[in-house]
Amino acid sequence: MNEILQQRIESVQAGRNITHAQTAAKRNLRKELETEMEKFLARGGEIKQAETRVYQVKHGTNTQYVKHSCRCKACVAWALKKGVVKTTQLKKGGGEG
Ligand SMILES: [Zn+2]
Repeated sequence: MNEILQQRIESVQAGRNITHAQTAAKRNLRKELETEMEKFLARGGEIKQAETRVYQVKHGTNTQYVKHSCRCKACVAWALKKGVVKTTQLKKGGGEG
């Protein structure tokens, strides 16, 4: 057989072998991951989507009182302290003052 042709065939075969090896490695990795995942789930593990952070409400702050219109004890106390409101008593039907 022609020597150059033979070399070409060999190099192509070598290349194919590398590709095959890479594919096999990927397949193994995938299988490994699946196995690990199954083990994880079997142990009672949970797969969570991106962790949702619970919004930490800070009562007794400007943000909470003004922006979120929170009228809980802490927020009202803050408003009173800051002079945002003068009383916690709600106005009744326009009788007084
Ligand atoms: Zn509040």
